[in-house]
Amino acid sequence: MGFSTTLQGRSAHEALLMRQDAELRLLETMKRCMILKVRCDREYAVALSAAVTQGLKIDRSDELSGSLVVAAWRSMMEELDNTSKLIKQNADSIESKTLDALNTMYTEKRKARKQYQEEHTRIAQQFTHLSEDVTRKKVEYQKYLELYKLMRSRFEEHYVKSGRGGRKLDEVRDKYQKACRKLHLTHNEYVLLLCEATEFEKDFRTVLLPGLLEYQQSVQEGYILAWRQLLQELVQFSDFTSEKYKEIQKRIENSLESVKHTEEYNDFTEKHKTTPNDPIKFNFDDSLVEESAGKLLPNELTVDNLTVEWLRTKLSELETSIKEVQEKKATINTSNHEMLHNGKNSNSDLSCRLPIADTNKKELNELKCQERKMLKQTELIKSALNELGCEEVPSGCDLSIDNQPFISNSSEQVALSTNKTLMDEEWFHGVLPREEVVRLLTQDGDFLVRETTRNDECQTVLSVCWGGHKHFIVQTTTEGLYRFEGPAFPSIRELILYQFNGGLPVTGRSGAILYKPIPRERWELNNDDVVLLDKIGRGNFGDVYKAQLKSTGQDVAVKTCRVTLPEDHKKKFLQEGRILKQYDHPNIVKLIGICVQKQPIMIVMELVPGGSLLTFLRKNSTILTEGQLMNMCLDASAGMRYLESKNCIHRDLAARNCLVGYSNTVKISDFGMSREEEEYIVSDGMKQIPIKWTAPEALNFGKYTSLCDVWSYGILCWEIFSRGGTPYSGLSNSKAREKIDSGYRMPAPENTPDEMYRLMLRCWEYQPENRPNFEQIFTVVDTLCQAYKISFL
Ligand code: ADP
Repeated sequence: MGFSTTLQGRSAHEALLMRQDAELRLLETMKRCMILKVRCDREYAVALSAAVTQGLKIDRSDELSGSLVVAAWRSMMEELDNTSKLIKQNADSIESKTLDALNTMYTEKRKARKQYQEEHTRIAQQFTHLSEDVTRKKVEYQKYLELYKLMRSRFEEHYVKSGRGGRKLDEVRDKYQKACRKLHLTHNEYVLLLCEATEFEKDFRTVLLPGLLEYQQSVQEGYILAWRQLLQELVQFSDFTSEKYKEIQKRIENSLESVKHTEEYNDFTEKHKTTPNDPIKFNFDDSLVEESAGKLLPNELTVDNLTVEWLRTKLSELETSIKEVQEKKATINTSNHEMLHNGKNSNSDLSCRLPIADTNKKELNELKCQERKMLKQTELIKSALNELGCEEVPSGCDLSIDNQPFISNSSEQVALSTNKTLMDEEWFHGVLPREEVVRLLTQDGDFLVRETTRNDECQTVLSVCWGGHKHFIVQTTTEGLYRFEGPAFPSIRELILYQFNGGLPVTGRSGAILYKPIPRERWELNNDDVVLLDKIGRGNFGDVYKAQLKSTGQDVAVKTCRVTLPEDHKKKFLQEGRILKQYDHPNIVKLIGICVQKQPIMIVMELVPGGSLLTFLRKNSTILTEGQLMNMCLDASAGMRYLESKNCIHRDLAARNCLVGYSNTVKISDFGMSREEEEYIVSDGMKQIPIKWTAPEALNFGKYTSLCDVWSYGILCWEIFSRGGTPYSGLSNSKAREKIDSGYRMPAPENTPDEMYRLMLRCWEYQPENRPNFEQIFTVVDTLCQAYKISFL
């Protein structure tokens, strides 16, 4: 379907002209747009270049020397400048090439349109002229035909009148012959003209006009081809994904890759390297006590009738403050734990979490310092008061003169230069799990030494806080010496002293320097501090023993952790110790310490002589009175009220996990599943859940709060009043669960006071918010106990 066959008509000719006009206008529009684009690109390039200038004005660049971030930033600026140049180059090319080509095409297209119009007019006019000639010749023909007819009739007339001669006849004959000749000539001319017109008309239709249209089509299509190329050029000059831009982007990315957070401050620290401050020793000025005749001794508290009360008040003030600090520490630890917990579930927002964790860490450090300081003071006061023992308080105004030699207190510095063994060092923490170690090392340079077992082999590890926690395994040379990267020593202790005294990095890569040895915490005991006596029970992690503390001879209970258990079980085992160490309540079993110097790790607790409450109830079922049972419920509620106030969720409250002390005092024990948070969502499945003691929302949604402990408390009361009965006896776990969901609740054990059973039912409200809290429970049980006592008086 070419122009030549379809566009011959007059209207098509008009349309073709109009189409060409429209194309010319489109070209003009494009031209205007391109001019604007070139201007915009240039302005953008200038603006980028100004941004680069701004970006390179780096304030105090001296102080940033060696910074990888600065180096990367400079490269980025350079590349931004290259981007600006490239944009400008492309704008120039659009102007000099594309716009120029567009202008040329515009002019040529205009010319082509004009030529087409002229050519069309010319051949059309040729045809018109020929048609007019034919008409004119026909008129002439008719005129000569009339003349001939007239001359012929005149000649015939004269011929008849005058016979066959005479001058007149000759004249008429001559005219007749001329007219005849004229007619014949005109006839021939007419015939030839008709032939010419016929031929021309055919040519116009089949050759000239189609030829012109065909030519015009090819001209116009040629321009379309050029037009497309021109637009392609424009696209290329505007392509931000072109190789050149990609190269810039690649270079920017490469420069960013060279930013390594662990290397950023290498130059800086190298340049500003300083040795850690020497410890400042606060010495007692002995001259101050010279006049005291031995009553006042340097570094020793004086206990006499003038000071004893003050010391006692001071001691109790300190103990209150220590408790407060410990509570604050526990809150921060909980919030850190939560953060860690949340962090595991989402990768987002790390940048926001870190500063909070750091702030917590800082605060924790301050609290630890406060705590340590106060504990030392407490120790000092306690030992001063203890020394007094049963003796009478000496008089502070005794005027007798006694020249006692001064007893100087040993330095509080960690003695690093005496002849101790590694085990004797305060900063040797035995097999303290890594998790605990990490908790102790809070500031860069804090360090301790511990042991770990890997592939059945015992390794000594130096743990250091240095931009995170680093754990260096002490290497053994073939000669049996110990080393890291530097020289080797015959003992690990000497190796650590060398590192500490020299202030040298443990390894070149880590750069970790030992600034401050972290001593064992108060509750970290030596395994040799306890003597195991009789086995009194069997726990989840190992056997439980009656034992004795060597130092004081105090009877204690020791929970051991089987040596063969995997590392994470050992951590779980110690979890109980970590939780218990913060609590101090007559109805909560007390932690004395943990032994992690060597395997087996152990938890040392106060010995609760009556053993497990469940066994106790069963053994003494016949002799226990209702009043005693009620008191047991009261004890348990007091302990739980305390835990509730500390935001501790026990999660495994049951008679088997309570102990019975003197005077049947019930103490909550077994904190292996406890969590210190307001709400705890179980994410690792529901393994080993005590189904019949656990609240429905914890079973169904893994959601634990103190109100779940309230549910368990209801079951515990039921166990107490059934004197060690089995809850939902005869029902499987799943059947019991099903029945509870459908509203079933256990009936009251025989002889349970109504109020007590009502309380149990309230504890078993399906919706946790409808259950009483432990504060309320305690009040109810306490009132009941009081009433009970009165009724028996
Ligand atoms: P686990 O938490 O590993 O299950 P338990 O706390 O239940 O271990 O202890 C097991 C048994 O050891 C208890 O049932 C109890 O008889 C005894 N026991 C535990 N702790 C003490 C303690 N402090 N005083 C006396 N006996 C205890």
